[in-house]
Parts: sequence; structure tokens; C-alpha cells
Amino acid sequence: MTNTYQGSCFCGAVQFTVSGDPAGMGYCHCDSCRRWSAGPVNAFTLWQPDALRVTRGAEHIASYAKTPNSQRKWCKQCGGHVFTDHPGMGLVDVYAAVLPELDFKPGVHVHYQETRLHIHDGLPKMKDMPKEMGGSGTMLPE
Ligand SMILES: [Zn+2]
Ligand SMILES: [Zn+2]
Repeated sequence: MTNTYQGSCFCGAVQFTVSGDPAGMGYCHCDSCRRWSAGPVNAFTLWQPDALRVTRGAEHIASYAKTPNSQRKWCKQCGGHVFTDHPGMGLVDVYAAVLPELDFKPGVHVHYQETRLHIHDGLPKMKDMPKEMGGSGTMLPE
């Protein structure tokens, strides 16, 4: 049986599901995520693009790409952020906060060199990104 999780934007106009298991979960500390979310970290869950299905309100989704590798999506009605396409990685980040049914089990912190909020949870802290995702693979202390 494949797990399916329901998600929605802040107002509920945009509804979607993700199916299967995420390719990765964790926290991003990069400047772009902090500025766009107006929060100190971004809790991400990464999925194969075909795991995500918008079931209602696709017409309300707007998109902005400051860089080609992050196409950030939000609901035009409420401004709530929903996901970010990462075409370079071939994955989509569905924000952990919009998937209340998913058991969020973070495995890694990325872009920790840019952190403004040190988190002492014992998880690995990558300076930028893991090697297999095109980063340096360098680890930093908490
Ligand atoms: Zn909305
Ligand atoms: Zn980020």
C-alpha cells in the first residue's frame, strides 16, 4: 500500500496530495529560504515530481523563480507557500508545514553556513549540500 498525504495552502483553496515516501526531509538554513519564508529555517520534504498531485485550485498557484533551480509556488488567494520545484535536483520540496499528516522526520540540516538559528538536535549539519546533490559534502559543528 502506498501512503498518501493530504496537504493544502493556508486558506484551503489549493489542495494536493503526495504519495509514497519522501526522498529526503530536513531543514534548510539558506538566505533564500529565510527571506522568502520570513522564518529562520525552512522545514522541507523532497519528493519525486510525480508523487505530487494538485487536486483542487491549481489555477490559484503562482510561481516565482529568483534562480532557475528554485521555482517557488504559493496560493494567490492567501499568499501561503506550498511547494518549490527544484528542476536541477529533479525533486519538489513540499513544505513540511503544509503536510500535517506526514510524520516529519528530519535527517539533515543544509546550508548551515548561512544559519541564523543554531539547532542542537544532533543531526548532521552540512555546510552547503550533500555531495550527491552537487554540494561540497562538508560538515559543520552545530
Ligand atoms: Zn490559499
Ligand atoms: Zn534554502
